[in-house]
Amino acid sequence: MSKNLNNQKNLGNPNIPNDHPRAQSLHYRHKLVDLMFEKVVTPSGLCAHGRGEAFDYLLGEQTIPPAENAMEAAIASLLLAKHPVISVNGNVAALVPDDIVELAEILNADIEINIFYQAQGRIEAISSILKKAGAKNILGLGDIPPKSLSHISSNRRIVDPRGIYSADVVLVPLEDGDRTEALIENGKKVIAIDLNPLSRTAQKANITIVDNIIRCIPRMVKIAERIKNLESEKIKVIIHNFNQKKNLDDCLEYIINFLQNLMEKTNSK
Ligand code: ATP
Repeated sequence: MSKNLNNQKNLGNPNIPNDHPRAQSLHYRHKLVDLMFEKVVTPSGLCAHGRGEAFDYLLGEQTIPPAENAMEAAIASLLLAKHPVISVNGNVAALVPDDIVELAEILNADIEINIFYQAQGRIEAISSILKKAGAKNILGLGDIPPKSLSHISSNRRIVDPRGIYSADVVLVPLEDGDRTEALIENGKKVIAIDLNPLSRTAQKANITIVDNIIRCIPRMVKIAERIKNLESEKIKVIIHNFNQKKNLDDCLEYIINFLQNLMEKTNSK
């Protein structure tokens, strides 16, 4: 982050009225901005959020049926994993800290911080948010010698040997395409959450949930609570019935129909 941004003071809470049509979106936007001044989020994290929100319009800012199916398959995969890990970056910690911690607990999954921009104090800032949300054990803090993933050269190749390095299933909310590919090359099953069904991440992951993490993680908590005590054979059926290619096609079809309906409504006015 540039020195200017670090030294600048936040411009203050805009006092968003509850009846503002975009109150929720503005609330999260300002949360991200506030947390940028605390090093949790980076300026490029703000751009990534904006890109995500643009795609959310195309879904009608709601969780669509294919996303619900992908969430079930994701939870089933995480429940049957030998070593599930949830990879957390600055935006995830800023937007859904409590729900991520709750999800990890239900799934018995490790939480590992993995970030692209390694500013001094950033990992500590993210870890502090997760601890406040109740996380007991956080990996990726650099307290033991790290390992490197192959097939990736950025900072994000650095992982915790107790976490992502030895995981079989990794949940990566808000990931970039390079790392998704690298995780797959390293033999992991990758579950992505990405509002953009066309991103490289969405296209490369084994399971892609096309939804906003703000809606998605609390929903995944509910699904995990519902299916965690099913017999493992039933959980396997959920995974078996999921088809990633078809699910992504269903998301695109949903968007096409949504826009078509919108156009028809506008034309009939
Ligand atoms: P890729 O490298 O996968 O092609 P990218 O370059 O857009 O995609 P990043 O900028 O690293 O990747 O990641 C941002 C991604 O996260 C975008 O695809 C965006 O749609 C998605 N995203 C941002 N905010 C959210 C959110 N709140 N919920 C779900 N997805 C989001």
